[in-house]
Amino acid sequence: MTKYNPDRFLPDQYLRHVLPDGFWSKKILDRNLDPKMVFLRAIIRSTVVTGRKLDETYRHAIDFYDNKMEKLKDEGFRKYKSMALHDERLLKSRIANLVIYEETQHQKEKHKGQRYRWLPSSAKEPEPEHQLLYGKIFNYGEGDKDGNMPGERYGCQCGIEWLD
Ligand SMILES: [Zn+2]
Repeated sequence: MTKYNPDRFLPDQYLRHVLPDGFWSKKILDRNLDPKMVFLRAIIRSTVVTGRKLDETYRHAIDFYDNKMEKLKDEGFRKYKSMALHDERLLKSRIANLVIYEETQHQKEKHKGQRYRWLPSSAKEPEPEHQLLYGKIFNYGEGDKDGNMPGERYGCQCGIEWLD
């Protein structure tokens, strides 16, 4: 395991730190676990790594999760619920995405006003639009065409290097 480096946020490295052991290979739902329990465990580990306050983080992440589910519904994912419940892989990647998103928000708070360099994504299928941003330097608050900084767009696993 590599050490957590506060000046760089690399989602894949971070996930290896915070997700419970065997997260990607273990069955979550067959063992009758509430998805949110697994999710909570990941959040707990992520707060241990970065020393964040658990309650805030958990609340933010749950809100985000709920909003995201609403949005998926609006976007026309008809069986969004059964998809989430029956597709463990989907559920796991949602948990991972939320953990990344949460840490991104924490990073933004911690490095307010700092410029940053956009680092490559660790996703299996990186977004082509984000690939064009690799290595570029941005002012705080600027990012892709929608104003997202690395890790903010849902599913984005791009990294960030804080400068200044
Ligand atoms: Zn990205």
